Amino acid sequence: LVVVIVCQVDLIAATVTAGQADPAALTTVAPAEAWFKPRTPTPTATLSVEALLTAVHSAVGTPEAPQSPEVATSLDATYENPDGFFGLDYPSSWSLSPRGGALVSPTDGAGLSMAIEIKAVNAETLAERYVEWYAAQVDDYWETDRRAGVVSGYPAQWVEQSFSVDGVAHHGVMAAIVRNRVGFVFAGWVPTTSPASLESTLRAMIQSVRIVEFAAAPPYSDWLTYETPHLTFHYLPDTWIDAAIEDIAAQHEQAFNDNVDYLDVEYDGLIDVYIYASEESFFRATARDAGFAINEFSEVHTRWFAENDHQTPGHEITHVITFHTMGEPSEALLGEGVAVWLDHGGNDYHRRCADLARSDRLVPLAELLGDGWDGSAAAYYEAGSFTGFLLERYGLDRFKDVYTAPDLPAALKRVYRASLTTLETKWLTALQ
Ligand SMILES: [Zn+2]
Repeated sequence: LVVVIVCQVDLIAATVTAGQADPAALTTVAPAEAWFKPRTPTPTATLSVEALLTAVHSAVGTPEAPQSPEVATSLDATYENPDGFFGLDYPSSWSLSPRGGALVSPTDGAGLSMAIEIKAVNAETLAERYVEWYAAQVDDYWETDRRAGVVSGYPAQWVEQSFSVDGVAHHGVMAAIVRNRVGFVFAGWVPTTSPASLESTLRAMIQSVRIVEFAAAPPYSDWLTYETPHLTFHYLPDTWIDAAIEDIAAQHEQAFNDNVDYLDVEYDGLIDVYIYASEESFFRATARDAGFAINEFSEVHTRWFAENDHQTPGHEITHVITFHTMGEPSEALLGEGVAVWLDHGGNDYHRRCADLARSDRLVPLAELLGDGWDGSAAAYYEAGSFTGFLLERYGLDRFKDVYTAPDLPAALKRVYRASLTTLETKWLTALQ
């Protein structure tokens, strides 16, 4: 399966550009920078949120207001998300933006973008993330109202917005919806000079949204749970996991206890562990194809497809443990490194790196810093082995001292009295 994560920045850039230009411009997309501007300070002038709220509501009604039949029947075309996650109706006079993921009205500058977000835990958090994003991208941003609503049977957050793009004032409406860990964000905008019916059309489009249910990933409320002292497991009934949960849970609980001891940290959990029995189940619940942790919510999602095809029990929960006790790592080299080193997968990462070294396939550690982290298998092995070397040779305290340091090479010199290159040489020598 190919995971397509719609990039919100691209979408908005594409659609705002397209919506304001003549139809010929629909075939070309200006770079995002062309309309990005730093946010201007919130004006202190006569405009008040209350006044805006009143104006917006008297013009378009509240989100719960029933749509007039006239508007509803104007939605005579259907859009289906290419990955099958959702569908919605729209007026056939509108067109799909060149990059997909947004519908635009070619004549009046209105548009509706549709984005899928990963790691979405609830509609409130998702809405907040997007509000912050909008506020940073456009001018004169005002959130004029926010309330809970329902879209396609799912709890949603409705946000009313007003902002300007290239000096043109807009009204906007946004709906954030979360199904399992897939977030859906529908954001519509119309120039304030447009007729109020345009904004009603946007609302009707969002209210026509159909979030698709998948047999392989029903709502989490239908999943079974199994608890150990520090972990709560979530998995589907009638899968091989259902039959093996006691053993799988015991492996994870063991990894949790060992790692808290090893790192000498105080952390009681509780971590929610979502275990997926198939690629399809994983993708439909998360829109992802690789295991991950949502540290802030103490959650991990792991692939456990068969007895001989699964992630390690320790990797993702180590991310959560370290996040809550040691902080955010400044470099993936150490953040992934500690998760690999403590993954309880029975792998000898020192030996794997010795093999890589013999065939001259080791990437210099300095090249894995910052954006150089490429997520390759070699990068993970090296991170795990190098982290293990630091911990075994020099102990925990020094490792914790450099773990969150913004400038890792400088921190290594200060704490280990050695440069990254020197430590790397010692590590490679120890591997032999
Ligand atoms: Zn990781």
